[in-house]
Amino acid sequence: MSTGTTIVWFRKDLRLTDNPALQAAIESQRAVVPLYIWCPDEEQAWPPGGASRWWLHQSLAALASALGKLGSRLIIRCGPTLPALLEVAGESQAEGIVWNRRYEPSVIERDSLVKAELKAHGLAAASFNASLLVEPWALKTKTGTPYQVFTPFWRAILNAGSPAAPSDAPDTLATPPHWPRSDDLADCALEPRLDWAKGMRDQWTPGEAGALAQLAEFADSALAAYPEDRNRPDRSGSSRLSAHLHFGEIGPRQIWARIQQQGEMDNRPGAAAGTETYLREIGWREFAHHLLFHFPQTTEQPLRRDFAAFPWIDDATGLRAWQRGRTGFPIVDAGMRELWETGWMHNRVRMIAASFLIKDLLVPWQRGAAWFWDTLVDADLANNTLGWQWTAGCGADAAPYFRVFNPISQGIKFDPHGNYVARWVPELAKLPVEWIHRPWEAPAEVLKAAGVVLGVDYPQPIVDHAVARQRALAAFETVKRSRQAGAASRA
Ligand code: FAD
Repeated sequence: MSTGTTIVWFRKDLRLTDNPALQAAIESQRAVVPLYIWCPDEEQAWPPGGASRWWLHQSLAALASALGKLGSRLIIRCGPTLPALLEVAGESQAEGIVWNRRYEPSVIERDSLVKAELKAHGLAAASFNASLLVEPWALKTKTGTPYQVFTPFWRAILNAGSPAAPSDAPDTLATPPHWPRSDDLADCALEPRLDWAKGMRDQWTPGEAGALAQLAEFADSALAAYPEDRNRPDRSGSSRLSAHLHFGEIGPRQIWARIQQQGEMDNRPGAAAGTETYLREIGWREFAHHLLFHFPQTTEQPLRRDFAAFPWIDDATGLRAWQRGRTGFPIVDAGMRELWETGWMHNRVRMIAASFLIKDLLVPWQRGAAWFWDTLVDADLANNTLGWQWTAGCGADAAPYFRVFNPISQGIKFDPHGNYVARWVPELAKLPVEWIHRPWEAPAEVLKAAGVVLGVDYPQPIVDHAVARQRALAAFETVKRSRQAGAASRA
């Protein structure tokens, strides 16, 4: 018998398993009103991009269906948030609202205001941690500052011990005596008006069931080979859980438990290394979220201030060629086309493509981050910011600026048979592997036999990489000079 009603405000926690806010509502013996509010304007400069909106639509539909199987329903409201929460509370005669925390700067600001207003309206409000192993404010260096280097950060997380075991999904949910009105999911207009999402539909199963199935498949079949295969875009070697994690269809505690369990059961060579390497990547996600919490300005500005003086070039033509996968560098173009088609790009290729934009073209990293934001199904403010600042050399524990990825040798090393390029740049598929990563160097008869006319079927390279590399290093001298000037003025 339920004693009152609680609203569970779903956000980036679109799951029933290991959902602390939902669990708290159930444990309080109250009826539950599951609610989602669509309000992109409140995310300020970072409302969800096109690919994320597509995913969100599918994920909400999956959550609504899972709730339906428990005899419950998902209430959808279009924002603004506070009036929507107050209305739903009024219509359902709820006494309290619970939710799981998010860590994006504009959301933290909004949520703090919402919490205070709800309390002022006599509603109980409580928030929980569903998406991180440790809260960002709970982890500091010995000197009380946030970690900016990954290895000691990760050691501190490991020293804190295994996270709490994940809780199970409920079997049933108590329903309220008064259901509030719901908008239609279609009212949120999340799906594209022109249907460009076929490639994404073919590739992904958004929703909690899809996330759990993906984790099980990865743990069973790919974990042991992960340390090597994670770098190979031509293999299905990584977990492809990033979008599921971003939308909270699965949480890191669940991943931790399943991966540890697999590591303990698995006697195959490499299993222990697989577990360690994979959890370390979950650690990078955690690191990114802690950094965003402590350095909220880094979504737009370099963490390392000396980079403010960097002489970027606003090369609109180069940016466009990069976005369209027409730079003339096959591994870069393959990645950009994979992204456009599926909403995802392999991590190794993200690094190569990002380095190309930033260092070969000198286009500001923020332009690349914005394109990824719109096109990735896993677009995540913390991970995207870290990835771009890391590649640019201006973030925490970043790649040194002088590390300029060579798109030819990276292609040869990580796509040694050219299969990845052949898949995403089919006009080069008939080139022998020796030339597929540098078609402009192929002899004329080889190009002819492969049916490739450079500049017609496939672009000539838009820069000379060796020259571009020197230009990037010269530009970096500006940062060095600014750093030295800063040091001298402090001396
Ligand atoms: P796996 O290798 O299976 O890793 C498991 C999980 O660990 C990932 O799902 C992800 O949550 C986390 N993870 C792995 N690598 C990283 C990393 N370098 N930084 C932070 N978390 C990591 N990841 C996003 O989720 N969203 C983004 O918007 C995003 N933008 C990026 C931009 C750039 C320029 C770069 C270089 C990387 C970016 N990444 C981003 C990180 C990484 O590329 C993806 O998380 C990864 O490719 C997702 O595939 P996966 O789930 O198969 O990864």
